[in-house]
Amino acid sequence: MSEEAEANQYDSIVVGAGFGGLYMLHRLRKLGQRVLVIEAGDGPGGTWYWNRYPGARCDIQSLEYSYQFSDELQQEWEWSERYATQPELLRYINHVADRFDLRRDILFNTRVTGARYDEADQRWTVTTDDGQARSARFVIMATGCLSSANVPAIPGLAGFQGDWYHTGRWPHEPVDFTGKRVAVIGTGSSAIQSIPLIARQASELTVFQRTANYSIPARNALLDPVEVKAVKARYPTYRAENRETAFHADFGYNELNALDVSAEVRDAEYERRWAMGGLPFLAAFADLMFDERANKTAADFIRRKIREIVSDPATAELLSPKGLVGCKRLCVDTDYYATFNLAHVSLVDVNADPIQAITSRGIRTETREYEVDAIVFATGFDAMTGAITKVDIRGRNGQRIQDAWEEGPKTYLGLSVNGFPNLFLITGPGSPSVLTNMLPSIEHHVDWIADCIEHVSSGRFVSIEAEADAQENWVTHVNEVGNTSVYPRCNSWYLGANIPGKPRVFMPYLGFPPYAEKCREVADRGYVGFRLIA
Ligand code: NAP
Repeated sequence: MSEEAEANQYDSIVVGAGFGGLYMLHRLRKLGQRVLVIEAGDGPGGTWYWNRYPGARCDIQSLEYSYQFSDELQQEWEWSERYATQPELLRYINHVADRFDLRRDILFNTRVTGARYDEADQRWTVTTDDGQARSARFVIMATGCLSSANVPAIPGLAGFQGDWYHTGRWPHEPVDFTGKRVAVIGTGSSAIQSIPLIARQASELTVFQRTANYSIPARNALLDPVEVKAVKARYPTYRAENRETAFHADFGYNELNALDVSAEVRDAEYERRWAMGGLPFLAAFADLMFDERANKTAADFIRRKIREIVSDPATAELLSPKGLVGCKRLCVDTDYYATFNLAHVSLVDVNADPIQAITSRGIRTETREYEVDAIVFATGFDAMTGAITKVDIRGRNGQRIQDAWEEGPKTYLGLSVNGFPNLFLITGPGSPSVLTNMLPSIEHHVDWIADCIEHVSSGRFVSIEAEADAQENWVTHVNEVGNTSVYPRCNSWYLGANIPGKPRVFMPYLGFPPYAEKCREVADRGYVGFRLIA
């Protein structure tokens, strides 16, 4: 083999240098592997590299939305706010990359375009947009659940003479909307965070809403050093306690059911959670996500709050979601609803008046044209599968992953796909991922994958892949468990409902503690449900 060909041989190639890819590299290095991480951006960070829109910040507490694999790291890093901003998260990720000397094995500014498994030599050939091909025994997709930006196919965008942006592909240079007429399309988490800040600059802001969303005030604040000290004094125990909870986070779970208490007790609990702020609202009662009548009590409470905040009754009504709380991802905001009290901010209901086209001057709905200088697409992502199926992945017999997933993603444990040996997914569809605090779920997957790769590489085996039966049963199980909850009852990105033509399948697995137990059991029993080829 030539020197150049040898240089292109790796034990593992990891796709993506976000939280998942960085920690995967760190773990695989410890196994003595030669690893390459390939990243499209010019720096690490994944989600927090791309989503630089105004107001972007995490809605899981910083003390929990951080790595725990290194106690030194979690002790030494000082978060400033309860919910970290995107710049602070990016500083943290860059610090991790430097502290663990990760950059030297990351190829930046390079996008993976394909990965083909060669059965003869049991290796993957990974191709990139620079025309190179590299070979690896294992490929790990650390491509993120919300990374394939969705710009809706509205006719006319190419002819728009103003500037347009997608929240998930925000420019690195500051964007100044001062004095500009701005349109925001979408009212999900990204829109809800950015709208109040865009409104501070724009001379006119028009928000195009298709579905109203529930949002809880963040109540963000500087972190209290006493509280930080208390958590750090027992960090591993704190993490272990949260690992035993449904959302894998410190939400202060109430074991009571909303339907078992009086209306007064219920409202007092909702008031307490509203004042506390953030996603812990969903843990107000144990039955909220499982019983529609319980859910409705929370929905009524939030709708009442919206009416109290928004002065114009018609706008308040339009901003009030009609469906269930939390079955579309709950949003967390700072001054979102109050922003609609500003004279220069208006709301357009695109259900009543659908967008027909983008014109050179703005947005044309059925009834009129809105002239704007800039359009912000806060229109979300081809979630959970988009970043994987964008890559031309071909497994045994040249089978394409797009074809294998034609009826919806099929995985075993969200980690492995039948027909694609030695390919692993970090927080893939079929794993709890987006229904939990992503950071510990990522670390859980990376640890499991690293242990599995160590097992396969122990000398006895050449490859591992999900058995077809185990995968089929897992997909059925994911859906059965999902159907015990209210989650599949809305048109959410959890179901792929936001992308025209995407098969409607509930993709995440509900229930972290039983999931972690299952993963442990599978490994302990010699990777039951996987085919290990010697
Ligand atoms: P999203 O929740 O999918 O919201 C997209 C919005 O765009 C929705 O309101 C959607 O309406 C609308 N939309 C899509 N296509 C449209 C079209 N053709 N015409 C009109 N409206 C259209 O996306 P996101 O806000 O980027 O958030 C995605 C996820 O990322 C979140 O759910 C959350 O998990 C994560 N996130 C988290 C944070 C945080 O930590 N604070 C911040 C941002 C994002 P429909 O609802 O009718 O489809």
